[in-house]
Amino acid sequence: MIEIKTIQEIEEMKPASRVVAEVLKDMKSFIRPGISTLDIDRRCEDIIRSFGAEPSSKNYGEPPFPGAVCVSVDDEVVHGIGRADHIIRDGMIVSVDVVAKLNGWHGDAARTYAVGAVKPEVLELIKVTEQCFWAGFEQARAGHRLGDISAAIQAVAVKHGYGIVRELTGHGIGREMHEDPEVLNYGHAGHGPRLQAGMVLAIEPMINLGTAAVEMLDDEWTIVTRDGKPSCHYENTVAITEAGPIALTIPDTDEGC
Ligand code: MG
Repeated sequence: MIEIKTIQEIEEMKPASRVVAEVLKDMKSFIRPGISTLDIDRRCEDIIRSFGAEPSSKNYGEPPFPGAVCVSVDDEVVHGIGRADHIIRDGMIVSVDVVAKLNGWHGDAARTYAVGAVKPEVLELIKVTEQCFWAGFEQARAGHRLGDISAAIQAVAVKHGYGIVRELTGHGIGREMHEDPEVLNYGHAGHGPRLQAGMVLAIEPMINLGTAAVEMLDDEWTIVTRDGKPSCHYENTVAITEAGPIALTIPDTDEGC
């Protein structure tokens, strides 16, 4: 069942999303060659806790996720675990997926950061993955269908010949980190549940430079591309309102992440 939030509840969700936005903004300058993915995880956790929030991903699932956030490098798609021996080098891309819980509500967003001299084709992948999100965002309107979001994301990715990860999806979000519905990054316009004001969705295209195929590492969390080519992730928590979609994890007062 898709939870419908009141206008008041959407207001109550904003502080958690604002914490997530602050973390991702900090990452723009923090991520640099020489630091480890564990340094990134710890920095994110410190910022989340400095706002009195909790990292929702910590101990989530089975086996319990050991990190505070997900840090996924190059061919790691999502759910990467920070490690002291995983050092960031010039030319890498780093995806950071942050979920924070504050006042009983979760906010969820992800960005992929380029470190130094990244190949133009990979920079293009980062740019287009963000474009995929905004294409989906534009369809997140009362009266539309869930499939309109999915189809819009797919259309942008397909135009560039990229692989769309199918095993992982966006999701509803609120008092739980993962609520109904699943928000697929591929699908058919005009299909699926009708969207209503009060739905809050984490829309999160995960797009591969190569094929769509992914696999899980032995740590039972990290998802990597099967062909070893890079993958990008861009996500925001989006509230559907009568006035249109609002990206809660991009606060008005911020210039955007
Ligand atoms: Mg996320």
